[in-house]
Amino acid sequence: MKIIRIPVLSDNYVFVLFDENKKIAAVVDPAVAEPVLECLRELNAELIAIFNTHHHWDHVGGNKALLKHFPKLCVYGGIEDKNRIPGQQVFLQEGDTVKFGDRVGQVFFVPGHTRGHIAYYFPPSDETEPGELFCGDTIFAGGCGRLFEGTPSQMVNSLSKLRALPDNTRIWCAHEYTLKNLQFALTVDRENTTLEARYKEIREARSKGIATVPSILGIEKQTNPFLRWDKSSLQAVTKMKEPARVFGRLRGMKDQF
Ligand code: ZN
Ligand code: FE
Repeated sequence: MKIIRIPVLSDNYVFVLFDENKKIAAVVDPAVAEPVLECLRELNAELIAIFNTHHHWDHVGGNKALLKHFPKLCVYGGIEDKNRIPGQQVFLQEGDTVKFGDRVGQVFFVPGHTRGHIAYYFPPSDETEPGELFCGDTIFAGGCGRLFEGTPSQMVNSLSKLRALPDNTRIWCAHEYTLKNLQFALTVDRENTTLEARYKEIREARSKGIATVPSILGIEKQTNPFLRWDKSSLQAVTKMKEPARVFGRLRGMKDQF
C-alpha cells in the first residue's frame, strides 16, 4: 500500500492509499475533491473508498463530488457521525475492521475533538514495515485536536489507545500544525532536550516548505506534551496529577497560546 500525501486548503493533508497491483485507491478525509481526482488520474486508479475520521467540513468537503465521479465507492465513518458525513454508507465502531486491497484496517473510537471521531490503523504487512495510523484531528505532530465536543477524560482515553500502538507507527494526521505545536510544547516541557532538538529540525524543515507529516509515534511519545500527562515535568507545570486534569490544563493553556 502506497500512501500519497496531498496538501490542500491552508494546512490540511488528504491521504490517498494506493494498491499498485489492483490499481485501486482509497482516500482519507478528502477536504476537497479536485486534487484527489488529479492524483487518481495520475495513478490511473479507481477510487473505491473514502475513510472519514470525523464530520468536520475540512475532512468531508470532497465526499459528494468524489461520489459523483465514482458512484460505486463506499463512504466509511463513525457510527456516532450518522447524518453528519455526506454520503456515509458504513457506520463503524471500536473494533470494527475495514478492507483495502490486501490490507485490513482496525477502527478505534477516539472521541474528544468531536463526539464521533474514529481512527484507522493499518498494522504492518511485514516486520520490516511500520504500521500506518490515520488519526484525523486526534493526535497532531507535537499536539492534539481541540476539544470541541468532548471532555479531557474522553480525550485522554482516546489518546491512550493510540499511544499504545508500536513506537514505529507512522502518524498521518490531518493538519500541518507541527511548528506551532512545538513552540507551545517548549513552554510547558522546558527541560526536554529531545523536544528542543526536534523543534530545531522542524523549524528547518518548515523554512524549506517540507512537510512534517507523517510523524512517528515513538517521537511523539517523547516530545508531544499531550501524550505525556504521566510525566512528572508536566504534572509539575500543570500542578495536577490525575491524567485528565493534567491533560485538561495543558489543553487549556494551548487554547490560550
Ligand atoms: Zn476537525
Ligand atoms: Fe481538521
